[in-house]
Amino acid sequence: MAKKTDVCSFCGMSEKEVGPLLQGIHGMICYNCSKRANELFTILNEKEKNNTPEPPLQIKTPQEIKAHLDDYVIGQDAAKRILAVAVYNHYKRLLYQSDKKRSANDVEIEKSNIVIVGETGTGKTLLARTISKILNVPFCIVDATTLTEAGYVGEDVENILTRLLQAADYNVQAAERGIVFIDEIDKIARKSDNPSITRDVSGEGVQQAMLKLLEGAVVNVPPQGGRKHPEQKMIAVNTQNILFISGGAFDGIERHIAARLKAHVIGFKEASSRNNAKDDNLLKYVQPQDLKRFGLIPELVGRFPVLASLNPLDREALQRILSEPKNAITKQYKALFAMDGVELTYDKAALEMVVDKAIEFKLGARGLRSLMETVMTDIMFDLPSKKETTKVRITAKMVEEKIDKNRDTLSMS
Ligand code: ADP
Repeated sequence: MAKKTDVCSFCGMSEKEVGPLLQGIHGMICYNCSKRANELFTILNEKEKNNTPEPPLQIKTPQEIKAHLDDYVIGQDAAKRILAVAVYNHYKRLLYQSDKKRSANDVEIEKSNIVIVGETGTGKTLLARTISKILNVPFCIVDATTLTEAGYVGEDVENILTRLLQAADYNVQAAERGIVFIDEIDKIARKSDNPSITRDVSGEGVQQAMLKLLEGAVVNVPPQGGRKHPEQKMIAVNTQNILFISGGAFDGIERHIAARLKAHVIGFKEASSRNNAKDDNLLKYVQPQDLKRFGLIPELVGRFPVLASLNPLDREALQRILSEPKNAITKQYKALFAMDGVELTYDKAALEMVVDKAIEFKLGARGLRSLMETVMTDIMFDLPSKKETTKVRITAKMVEEKIDKNRDTLSMS
């Protein structure tokens, strides 16, 4: 049995913290760590046993991919087309690589990692999630901010691949042709665009570490994530064929775009197009050099050759988001009510009121759900007890009353 001062050799916790420790020749293990080890070995053994060949890739055309995106994401046509083509080319590239008849002299098709620039809440993650549903390659979403938190020069960047391995059920071959969405890539930007003046070590360090992944290298990945430690068995993953899509709001990048456009316009003495650019959504003019000025290192920008931008959502877009997508919020409530045998309808003016409130409270598309929830909660609370009710109609007056009653909580969210 363990002595009082003994700790688990894996997690470093004492017997007091994690319960009895099992003594080995060189160390101890606690129940939690032995359980995790058992789970991991089960997965690894499964994979070794499983020699079934990969199913052939089913390729969807860019138009089919875009049609699927249209079912769930409102607007953002330009970005959808770019994404659809990128994903299609990813598949073609994988097929091309596995073509045994290829000779060494054939053209090398390089992958085209993508950056999506768009204000928060305009659909970056939604696009990524929606696309993942029709992919038959592993897909994962990672948040770049969690990588900065680890602080020291990007050891934890490999955790991106841990997620992909998990998505691939630890099938390394499958993970090696997967797609990774890196969210909030703008949060690892350097704070100054002049590296020699202010070095923001954590952001730049993570960017440097990320380069290795993007360039295509064999990376040792900790199967369960976390920090690397010497005893851990690593899984080697080749990133050459993994497609990286990243997204970020890049708050303030318009400044750099405007400055560049202005310089350009003045250079060519075209005052009229300068005015146009000012009125427009500047994000659609974004160029790689703007990302550099924002604080991404040139090498990283170079590894993301495809750039897409999202439009801000206007009143009409918010209106459509409420009711048009296949899983629109209003449709979800209708389905919930139908399960209780109740027909739910909304007045047009009621939905317009919800959008007005989303704009008033500056909540954007993300706020539509919380506003609807505010409107519907009381009704959903009472309904199942009122057996005689078979129809519920939501009016503008009801929306206004419920939202005004909860004004304080909503405007703080
Ligand atoms: P971000 O750009 O910050 O990643 P999200 O994709 O997470 O934004 O969007 C937040 C929520 O807003 C989504 O879950 C969705 O409900 C809604 N939304 C945002 N943009 C759209 C859009 N273009 N079409 C449909 N719903 C959208």
